[in-house]
Amino acid sequence: MNLIFLGPPGAGKGTIAKKITEKHGLIQISTGDLFRENIKNQTEIGRQAKAYMDRGELVPDSIVIDMLKARIVQPDCQGGFILDGFPRTIPQAEALEGASNVRIDKVVNFVIADDLVVQRLSGRRICPKCGAIFHVTNIPPKRSGICDKCGAALIQRDDDKEEAIRNRLVVYKKQTEPLIGFYRKRNLLADIPADLPQIDAIVARVDRLLVK
Ligand code: AMP
Repeated sequence: MNLIFLGPPGAGKGTIAKKITEKHGLIQISTGDLFRENIKNQTEIGRQAKAYMDRGELVPDSIVIDMLKARIVQPDCQGGFILDGFPRTIPQAEALEGASNVRIDKVVNFVIADDLVVQRLSGRRICPKCGAIFHVTNIPPKRSGICDKCGAALIQRDDDKEEAIRNRLVVYKKQTEPLIGFYRKRNLLADIPADLPQIDAIVARVDRLLVK
């Protein structure tokens, strides 16, 4: 089963994808995480992507598409995957459609209001070591500022600062939202409310979609 998680930044795609992959034995592929890993390892891709990311802009299609295509042909992806944060433009979706041996079974569209996105992202903290995601009030770690899973100090992503968040929302509406129509036309799209107070309630809604 190959899925796409679509929706604005802060909709909870990453957190929900983590739970769904664990349950269904899928691989989570987050292009944002792949870029952050490349930046950490000081690769050429990381060097090219960093300035765009810090401004809350999209990394150019050619870079993202090549990186994603190289990832989905890896053996661990052959049992199924969730694309979290890809595609984000129509050319990316077309490139995915044109990739041989890749069939998308469903596109889950997470629906959430802008002000809730800003509240969620500005409070988000991530673990730079193991990738765990927290929120200062919604998902607080047991010890303030410390990762529950590995004990590393939590950080705020540069693009989770207010100005970059606003820009990411503008970019989302202009470049990514057209994908809703793209996938609806192909009968692949399912809307899921992403503003339910309990994450597990959202996960259960996604789960129900997958057994249909
Ligand atoms: P994310 O972790 O998914 O919010 O992604 C963080 C940042 O990485 C985005 O704001 C973009 O700058 C970049 N990025 C991630 N995925 C893509 C993509 N599919 N296309 C272009 N840029 C991306």
